[in-house]
Amino acid sequence: AGKLFQFKLVLLGESAVGKSSLVLRFVKDQFDDYRESTIGAAFLTQTICLDDATTVKFEIWDTAGQERYKARASLAPMYYRNANCAVVVYDITQTSSLDKAKSWVKELQRQADPNIVIALAGNKSDLSARRAVETEEAQAYADEAGLLFFETSAKTATNVNELFTSIAKKLPLD
Ligand code: GDP
Ligand code: MG
Repeated sequence: AGKLFQFKLVLLGESAVGKSSLVLRFVKDQFDDYRESTIGAAFLTQTICLDDATTVKFEIWDTAGQERYKARASLAPMYYRNANCAVVVYDITQTSSLDKAKSWVKELQRQADPNIVIALAGNKSDLSARRAVETEEAQAYADEAGLLFFETSAKTATNVNELFTSIAKKLPLD
């Protein structure tokens, strides 16, 4: 029998970038064009078998409302406290959402567990006709900040499993 590793994962990013949609795609392989927005925090789990001997179980905290807290110093940390990994999401059609993602990364790097694995996800890659953030720009930022980076589409499922699998592979599995 193999080993089961359990990790807490949080999603952060501006409202409407597709955090809940990425989770829904990963956990249920579904997409909904008219999703109701999350109220409070939703908790879901999903497991990934990395190989015969290794299964990773993610406890996923999909947050809402955190986007609105201007003075988040006192409120946001409860979401990412004890998180082993974080997916910071922006929308490739909204430049401002990348700025917001960068500020979340900065906060995580200052305040979260120093070993946290952070992935940057440029979501809505299916909307390439409306692209506002170039792949190269985001990749360069991710490299500089030491982040995993994927352009994803919760709608078409592009790179969603790849995103979570690459996080699983970077976590301490021993
Ligand atoms: P959240 O506020 O970050 O949790 O964002 P949601 O998951 O609620 O998504 C906000 C809106 O963007 C919804 O209308 C989704 O259907 C849409 N959306 C989410 N992901 C994608 C995607 O990959 N492609 C497209 N075209 N729309 C998406
Ligand atoms: Mg949501």
